[in-house]
Amino acid sequence: MRSLDDLDVSGKRVLVRVDFNVPLAAEGEGEPQAGGGVPLVSDDTRIAAALATIEELRAGGARLVLVSHLGRPNGKRAAELSLAPVADRLRELTGAKVTLAPAVIGDEVTALAEELEEGDILVLENVRFEPGETSNDPELARALAALADLYVDDAFGVAHRAHASTEGIAHLLPSAAGRLLEREVQTLTGILEHPQHPLVAIVGGAKVADKIAVIERFLEVADVVMIGGAMCFPFLCAQGHAVGKSLCDDEDVEHARSALLRASDSHAPQPGRARLLVPNDLVIGERLATDAAHRVLDGVEVPAGWMGLDIGPKTVQRYASVIASAGTVFWNGPMGAFELEPFAAGTRAVAEAVASAKGLTVVGGGDSAAALAQFGLEGSVDHLSTGGGATLEFVEGRVLPGVSALQGAGVA
Ligand code: ADP
Ligand code: MG
Repeated sequence: MRSLDDLDVSGKRVLVRVDFNVPLAAEGEGEPQAGGGVPLVSDDTRIAAALATIEELRAGGARLVLVSHLGRPNGKRAAELSLAPVADRLRELTGAKVTLAPAVIGDEVTALAEELEEGDILVLENVRFEPGETSNDPELARALAALADLYVDDAFGVAHRAHASTEGIAHLLPSAAGRLLEREVQTLTGILEHPQHPLVAIVGGAKVADKIAVIERFLEVADVVMIGGAMCFPFLCAQGHAVGKSLCDDEDVEHARSALLRASDSHAPQPGRARLLVPNDLVIGERLATDAAHRVLDGVEVPAGWMGLDIGPKTVQRYASVIASAGTVFWNGPMGAFELEPFAAGTRAVAEAVASAKGLTVVGGGDSAAALAQFGLEGSVDHLSTGGGATLEFVEGRVLPGVSALQGAGVA
């Protein structure tokens, strides 16, 4: 994959696809807009994460044109999804001359791009205001490419989408990966292709169908795969246990059954087949609510009328000791309904085990990242992936259009 090391950016206009899809808080101050105050950026993690590439390019004498999406305006201009608050925050963080363009493309935008001095930044309006973005319209890709001499993609979170600003444009300009995207690809490739063993994958969260391919990949490359969260009920059901009212649909049970067949027999480990661990105790509740009756269940036979909402303390102990002795840990998906305090202990304990593990630790997934943040541990893992769906698709071994467009010789 081509990187910033392959580009000579001095004096050039560089269009950088960033992921500024940040959460906004409605209760900003200033001139009121229809329906409330001016939004403010409530979490600037993604803006801060893009600074490595932005500052390296500025230091190299580039003139920057930044392009990002924000939310889902569905191809129409939406005042509440303007990148204005993002441009303001970026100005504070960089101290650079940061200008917000009035639109994504057009004569006024072209004029602003041409006026840029070295080190200046022009932020285009939300690229999803243009219907051609998600349809990968070649005309939009050409109009974006006309704003710059070079293209850099630093938006790993949307690399699994072939959009005009992620894929189309990469074929029209000399292009390379930014530092953030480069690090994502290197880290994830490293754990899949040459991990420090034992490689331990922890897969939790809500839906087996979305993650079965991830589980299957890790059954091939990892030493141990541990299942938690609502994901575990199809597995427990496939093993013949009662699951009560727990989340568990028939299709997922079939997926779980086939994964169990691919796993190693725990008494006779086989190469290329990881051991698959499922919970041996649970926290169950009568409802998914903070005030619901709940208790630890010693075992995994969920009584009728109850649902499994977290892994139990014995499972936590087993999983934590495997994590502690791992050479590499990949974690995706919470162990329970961690947003509710009665069902947060399993996710907290696994997060703490991952945070204190000696091996390389990689965490992916929006809710897993939120869980780390909730427990104040987001700085305690080696790599917190910025991609949700993109991370899962990469791990599955699928070709990401935004990544493959940066591989090979490219446009000279
Ligand atoms: P990620 O975003 O990290 O990939 P997912 O989106 O797959 O994770 O799943 C996260 C959601 O799964 C959380 O909202 C959590 O409350 C829910 N969840 C986890 N375990 C359970 C469970 N046993 N029952 C119901 N919901 C659960
Ligand atoms: Mg999620």
